[in-house]
Parts: sequence; C-alpha cells; structure tokens
Amino acid sequence: MLKIYNTLTKKIEEFTPFENNIVRAYFCGPTPYDHTHIGHARSYIAFDFLKRYISSLGYHFIHVQNVTDIDDKIIRRSYEEKRDWREIADYYTREYIDLMNQLGVKIDFHPKVTDHIKDIIDFIQVLIDKGHAYVAPSGSVYFDVTTYKDYGRLSGRSLQEQWRQEEEFLSEKKNPFDFALWKAAKPGEPYWDSPWGKGRPGWHIECSVMSSKYLGSKIDIHGGGQDLIFPHHENERAQSESYFGTSPWVKYWVHIGYLTISGEKMSKSLGNIIPLKEAISKWSAPVLRLWIFSAHYRKPIDYKEESLEQMSVLYKRLRNAHEILIRMIREKPLEHNLSERELEIWSRLDDLWSRFKNALDEDLNTPEALAHLNKFISIIYSEIISRESTGLVFKALNIIDRMNQILGILPETLAPPKTSEDFEDMIKLIIEVRKRLRQKKMYDEADWIRNELLKRGIRLMDSKDETIWVREK
Ligand SMILES: [Zn+2]
Repeated sequence: MLKIYNTLTKKIEEFTPFENNIVRAYFCGPTPYDHTHIGHARSYIAFDFLKRYISSLGYHFIHVQNVTDIDDKIIRRSYEEKRDWREIADYYTREYIDLMNQLGVKIDFHPKVTDHIKDIIDFIQVLIDKGHAYVAPSGSVYFDVTTYKDYGRLSGRSLQEQWRQEEEFLSEKKNPFDFALWKAAKPGEPYWDSPWGKGRPGWHIECSVMSSKYLGSKIDIHGGGQDLIFPHHENERAQSESYFGTSPWVKYWVHIGYLTISGEKMSKSLGNIIPLKEAISKWSAPVLRLWIFSAHYRKPIDYKEESLEQMSVLYKRLRNAHEILIRMIREKPLEHNLSERELEIWSRLDDLWSRFKNALDEDLNTPEALAHLNKFISIIYSEIISRESTGLVFKALNIIDRMNQILGILPETLAPPKTSEDFEDMIKLIIEVRKRLRQKKMYDEADWIRNELLKRGIRLMDSKDETIWVREK
C-alpha cells in the first residue's frame, strides 16, 4: 500500500484515488521565457517517478502539465529582446518538450494558456456570478479572499502574513490579500477581449481552468515545486473550491523540494544556473534521473559533481549487468535446474525486489530503494554471471525490467544492446587472441590489448576461466 505525504494535512496518508483505478494528476509546468534548467528538471523527474510508481501498482494515471505561455516574464523578455512574445514562448516551449522527451518524462496533456482564453473567461464569470470575484474600475477582476473561509490552510499562513499580494494593484483591490484573475491590458501589452474589457488572465486562474477541463471537478494529485505552495496553490484551491462549491477539490497535494548548487540557491544574480540541455549532454539523461532519485523528493538536493559521478558509476554497473545477462541468454548453454545454492540466490533477489518496493511504498523513499538496487546489482556480478543458470538469469532480468519501469533509465529492458553482432564478434575474437597470448605467457602483449580496448571504451573483466566485456561509456 502506497503512503504519501499530503501538504494540506501535513501527514503521510494511504493513497486511494477518488475513483477506483484512475488517478487524475495535475502538475504545474513551466513559463517558457528562458531555457529549462536543472531545478525544473528535478520537479518534473520527481513527479514522473511518482507517476511511474503509481502506474506500476495497476492504476491508469492521467498526467496534465500546463505551459504558461503568457505571463509578465514573457512580456518583459519580449521587450528586452524586441521579439514577439509568441515567438519567445513557442521557442522555449519546444525546447522544454524536447528535453522532457529526452529525460523520459511522458506527459499526457501539455495545455497552453493561450489556447484556453475562452474557458478562462467563462470560469471567471462564474466566480463573479457566485460572488467570489469582483470587477475593479480598471477592468481587472480580483478574487475576494474573504469569501473563501479555508484560505491559508495549504500554506499554513494567516491572512496577516500574506496581507500584501500583488502589490502593484493594491490601490484598486477590496482587500490587500485579494489576487488578480484577469489583468486589464496596459498599453502595448498583448490582450484578449473580455466582458470586462481588453486584458489577459492572471497566473493562478489558468491551472484551475485547465485542470478541470482535462481532469474534471476532482483531482487526485496536484503537484508542483515547494515554491508554488504560496501563493499559487493556495489561490488555485480558493478558486476551484469556490467554483465547484465542493471540498476537497484535490485529494493529495504533493510538493517537490528545492535544488541548490554547491549549497547555494540557483539564481541569475549568482550566475550559477545550469541549463538542462548542458546537464544532459554532460551526464546523460539516465544519470540525471538516478541522481534526482538519490535524494528524497521532499528534501533539498544539492548539485555536486561527486554525487553525479557516483550515480554515473551506479548506472554503468546496472546497464552493463543488464547487457551481460542478455548476452548470456543468447550465447551460453544454460542449465535449467536450480541447485540449493542457486535457490538461495533466487530468494535473495526476490527479497531485494520486495525491499525496493517497500521503500517506495513509504512516501517514495528513493534513496533507500537505490541502496537495494545497488545490492541487487552486486549479486548479479558476484553470483549470477559466474554461473550458468537460466533460472537466475531470467529472474534477474525480470526484476531489472520491473525496476526499470519505475526508474525509467534503461532504454528497453529486454531489447538487445545497441552494439551490432559484427562488432560483438570482433570483440570476442580479440578476447580469444588475448587468451592465447596469455596461455603463451605473453602478458605484456595481453595487457596492451586490454589497454587499447579500454581506450576505445571497452573494458575487459577477467574471472577464473573466462573474460567478459562491458562498455565504459
Ligand atoms: Zn499551477
């Protein structure tokens, strides 16, 4: 049974969706005004992990992640660069979707704000009609926070603590903590026509509107980075529960922790922003994913080269173990019966798989799950590769496959490795030549072959009676 921390109740709760086996999930996506960086990637990968894990439990998971393609930041950028705001939003949206594909983050719907202006206007009109929102003289529309009694519960803040929201509009708001649903257009800004005049949507309303359009009036999981709890999620909650007149609108609120760079916050002023594109080309997508999993999703994660190096080693060990097992099936005459000792190894593998899953059931304890994965790989190297047991090889591959459905780090578990047969034949021939040299005690030549192969990214591993090879990169 999966248990997950709910920001609203501040408790770890058993996970059961509103409706049988369907999980409706909404995660707040990017504002495409600049390159996607690794801080964004942390949130999206962590949520993708949650989705994969819940799907592995047999649920149908529908994942909506919006794109805020009109916003103050995009408008500012278009002034700075003298480029059309649509061009900027479109460019960075494409980059973001491409990078998500590279990272294996599969999102079902990427709705964009500018495609939903009419839905947003209709939603705001209902809030006005129900007395939850009011039109100011400028033509802007604000949500009247005093009409929603539960305001502040998600973030745990009192009204006194948040009394000045969106300060630039203080003069025309009824209460300083009210927030904009619709912003009247300033000269030169992009706008749409509405019953209240020309303007554009505020930031928070889009998520209430697009989540209900794609997922309906009740959402099982709503997620985002921890920085979105206030004001964004507090405001979304006020809008949606007022619109539908029901509570809870969201069953579980899930928030992902911060990412720091050598202990410091990532920011433009510190000049330490790491674009995701660079991080992927330096470390590769699977290594970045594993590194994100090396910290618990609610805790901060610190970007340090050493931690990524460690995950790179773990990834290669897993990938190589996987390739060796597949080669064993293709090439070796394997035994079908299991000896006593092999039965014992079999049950150790099963035990590690259970521990891996149990760790994830406890509010997605990925660091602990990775520790079990590490032990599991060690057994493959120490006990399985040296034996010729079909049962154990298939057992190990089967567990790797199930783990990988959740981790999403190996391309396709049972697909053959990327190397061609001709290439593998050549490596085998070289290994045979080296073996013959060693039999003739020509160790210098044998070592030379090993070193030359290593330079080309092929590592040889000698055991008592045979040599196996793995790729280094
Ligand atoms: Zn949102």
